[in-house]
Amino acid sequence: MHFLQIPGPTNVPHRVLQAMARPTIDHRGPEFAELTLDLLPRLAAVVQTGGDVVVYPSSGTGAWEAALVNTLSPGDRVLAFETGHFAMLWCRMAAKLGLEVDLVPGDWRHGVDPGLVAEHLTDETAAVMVVHNETSTGVRSRVPEIRAALDRAGHPALLLVDTISSLGSLDYRHDEWGVDVTVGCSQKGLMLPPGLAFNAVGPKALDHQGRLPRAYWDWRPIIEANHSGYFPYTPPTNLLYGLAEALTMLEEEGLAQVFARHDRHAEATRRAVRGWGLEVLCADEREHSSALTAVMVPNGFDADEVRRIVLERFDMSLGTGLGKLAGRVFRIGHLGHFTDLMLVGTLGGVEMGLRAAGVPIKDGGVQRALAYLEGGA
Ligand code: PLP
Repeated sequence: MHFLQIPGPTNVPHRVLQAMARPTIDHRGPEFAELTLDLLPRLAAVVQTGGDVVVYPSSGTGAWEAALVNTLSPGDRVLAFETGHFAMLWCRMAAKLGLEVDLVPGDWRHGVDPGLVAEHLTDETAAVMVVHNETSTGVRSRVPEIRAALDRAGHPALLLVDTISSLGSLDYRHDEWGVDVTVGCSQKGLMLPPGLAFNAVGPKALDHQGRLPRAYWDWRPIIEANHSGYFPYTPPTNLLYGLAEALTMLEEEGLAQVFARHDRHAEATRRAVRGWGLEVLCADEREHSSALTAVMVPNGFDADEVRRIVLERFDMSLGTGLGKLAGRVFRIGHLGHFTDLMLVGTLGGVEMGLRAAGVPIKDGGVQRALAYLEGGA
């Protein structure tokens, strides 16, 4: 069995695969409307919003674009933070769309420093862009503290948050945290294949119609069609069947339990890493991601060589180091559909792979994870 332990796409449960293996129905028929009207509020519940959720047949990148083009105008200033590879890609997109990006530099080992938000806001800042869970680094930004910084400054900028690798794995509260646009997609905590992305849209964002050109990504015709259960284009019907089943799985387990399971697996993983005598990339105890762990390899070793050996010998895929972290880290994905036994198998494969690659590690890393898992929370 292949172990897919990259931080997304994640393992798709059999229940979800089976749910998708059904005939595609008429997307303008009554059965389809029932499906949509059932699905959208349940997806909104995972984002923890009572507002609209706009679903696209797209990868996450499309939903990034939708968040920007629906709210902003050419030349608008956006405030962004260099927390890692995905934050930088989103900035690059903003610049390509004609926005002025004020980028706060970072070391790729920390999340957004809420203390720096007010310092970098200007009268022209139209939006603040935050990646909740930086998938390239395994660092989680503290969105409620960022919101509080905006509120303290009394600043009207929109808060746009990428929850692509956190949604359905880490606690995320669109309404309570005062987020204006949330960006999410299917292939991580929602346990689906790639191909479906979405925006959760707060009322302020909906009112704030920017002048950037948009057609396919325009929220408004989609929201209007959704009210009667349809889409203005052909929706990805079978992915929506899968989404319905994935939502049922999350509902059965309960969101609080889903988050606790991820926190527990992440803590066990960190204990194993430290037991090996290696360093976790995330440098702030308050910001560890519960979706993935980025592990630094000692100087003189190549993280991609460890990954290559792990794939070759144990048929397990680990995440590569992205951007400036190439060769320096590998990433263990423990998000989505994931159990204690899958974690133990994953950590066992990593430990054997590190030894096989000649990386000097201490004995007992997996043992530490086991002790933690056996001891419960
Ligand atoms: N944002 C984050 C945090 C991601 O992890 C990813 C992809 O892994 C993206 C954005 C881009 O999403 P996609 O590759 O689905 O377009």
